[in-house]
Amino acid sequence: MLTGAQYLESLADGRAVYFEGKQVDDIANHPYLGPAVQVVADGYDWLAEQAVDGESPLLAVPATPDELRAKVDLVHHAGMMAHVTYTSIMTLATVAGRMKETTPQYIEPIQAFIEDAQRRDVRITQCITDAKGDRSRPPGKQDDPDAYVRVVDRRDGGVVIRGAKLHITGASLGHELMTIPTKAMKPGEEDYAIAAAVPVNAPGVKIVDTTYAPRHADLRDFPVSGHNHYPEGFVMFDDVFVPRDRIFLDGEVSQAATFAHSLGLWERLGGLSGMADDADLLVGLAQLIAEANGLAGVGHIKEKISEMIIHATVVRACLEAALSHSQAGPFGAMFPDELYTNAGKYTGAAAYNLMVRHLHDIAGGAVVTAPSIADLENPDTGPLLKKYMTTGSSADGEYRIRLFHTIRDLTADSYGGWRAVTNIQAGGGLYAQRIVTRKHYDLDRAKAMALAAAGLSPQH
Ligand SMILES: Cc1cc2nc3c(=O)[nH]c(=O)nc-3n(C[C@H](O)[C@H](O)[C@H](O)COP(=O)(O)OP(=O)(O)OC[C@H]3O[C@@H](n4cnc5c(N)ncnc54)[C@H](O)[C@@H]3O)c2cc1C
Repeated sequence: MLTGAQYLESLADGRAVYFEGKQVDDIANHPYLGPAVQVVADGYDWLAEQAVDGESPLLAVPATPDELRAKVDLVHHAGMMAHVTYTSIMTLATVAGRMKETTPQYIEPIQAFIEDAQRRDVRITQCITDAKGDRSRPPGKQDDPDAYVRVVDRRDGGVVIRGAKLHITGASLGHELMTIPTKAMKPGEEDYAIAAAVPVNAPGVKIVDTTYAPRHADLRDFPVSGHNHYPEGFVMFDDVFVPRDRIFLDGEVSQAATFAHSLGLWERLGGLSGMADDADLLVGLAQLIAEANGLAGVGHIKEKISEMIIHATVVRACLEAALSHSQAGPFGAMFPDELYTNAGKYTGAAAYNLMVRHLHDIAGGAVVTAPSIADLENPDTGPLLKKYMTTGSSADGEYRIRLFHTIRDLTADSYGGWRAVTNIQAGGGLYAQRIVTRKHYDLDRAKAMALAAAGLSPQH
C-alpha cells in the first residue's frame, strides 16, 4: 500500500496539468489544487490504518450484501479518490463478467490491469463523458470527428487515440484514466468503440482543471468546502498511444454500452450513498437553525422539516433496498440492485433543490449575509454582532452565525452551486436514471394488477 507521502511523490511524474491559463508544475503545492492533493494523501494514510495483513481494505471484493454495505461505507469515508478508484475497479470487474461470452479476449487484460492497479495502490478516475459536439448527432456524423474519443491510428502493439473527456472528477489527482465509451455504438462507429486504461502522464494527455475551492483568505467561513474539495478535469487525448495490453475494447460496437451501463450502476450506488447522508445533513441543519431561530415548534416549519425527514428516509430506504437485494455476479462479487439504485439516486437528485428550498425558507436571509468569523473577533464589531445575532440563552450569536455559514457553504455559495448541478448531472443525469429504472421495473406485473382491479382480462 502507498503511504500519503509516497502518493505525494508519485505525482511528480511529468503529468501535464493546467489551471486558469497556466501549467501547474507542482500540483501538491498549488494554492487551490494542493489542499485537495493533501486530502487524498490523508485518505491513503487513513486506509493504511484500516489495512488487514498489509492489504488495502479497498481490495477485497464483497461477496455478501453485508460486505457490500460495509464496502460502501468504507469507500464513502475514504474520500472521493478512493470512491472513483473503487467504482472504476468494480466497473471493469462488472464488464469482464458481462463480456465473458461475447468478447472473452478482453477479460485477461482487464483482470491483469485490476491486479496491477491494486498492487501499485494507484488511484483511477472515470473518463466516460465525451465532448459530444451536436447532441442530436451520433459520433460518426459530427462536423468534427473528434467530438467522441476515437482511434486515429493503429500501430504495432497498440492504437493512437484522440478526443476529450469532460468533467472528470479528480483526473489530475489520480494515476490512471479509465477511458470508456459514453454510450452505445453502431456498425460504422468501430473507431469510437474504444476502452482503455491511460496513465495520467502518458505523452499527449493534457488536463485543464476547474475547482469550487473557496478563494477566501479565511477558510473558517467555509466549514465544509474549505478543507474538502476536488477539481474536475477537462481531459484531452492529443494523439495518445495506448499499448495493446491496456486496451479493453477495440472496435466491437455491440459491447460499447456495456461499459457505460456497468459504470452507471456503481457510480449511482456511490451517488445514492452520498445523497442518503446529505439528506440527513439537510434535516439536521434545518432542525438546528429552526431551534436557534426559536421557531422549531411552529406548524409550517415542522411541516417542512417533516417533508425533509420523509425525503431522507425514502432515499436511505432505497439505498438499503439496493444493498439488501444485491445479487452475486459471474465472478462471485455482489452487485447492487439496479432498480432501487436508480430509483433512489433519481429521487435523491430530483427533490434535492426542493429540500434546499425548505432549508433556506426555514433559515432566513442570514444564510447569505451572516458576518464573517473575523468580524466576530474584531473588538469594534464582535460584541455587537453577537448581541444582535443571539436569539436566547440556548443559541448565542456565534453559534447561530456558524450554522448560517455551514448552510451557505453547503447550499448557497460556490460549493452549494456545484452541488446543485452535480446532484442532477453526475452519474449520467436524471434522464439516464429514468431509463434504467423503467428498464428494471416490472411493468407487466403492474399492468396485470391494473387489469385485475378493472375486472378486465389481458385478452381485452
Ligand atoms: C461535478 C461533475 C462531476 C462529474 N464527474 C464525472 C466523471 O468523473 N467522469 C465522467 O465521465 N463524467 C462526469 N460528469 C459528467 C456527467 O456524467 C455529465 O455531466 C452528464 O452525463 C451530462 O452530460 P453533459 O454534461 O455533456 O450534458 P448534455 O449531454 O449536454 O446533457 C444536457 C441535457 O441534454 C439532454 N440530452 C443530451 N443529449 C441528448 C439527446 N441526444 N437527446 C435528448 N436529450 C439529450 C440530457 O438528458 C440533459 O438533460 C460529471 C459532471 C459534473 C457536473
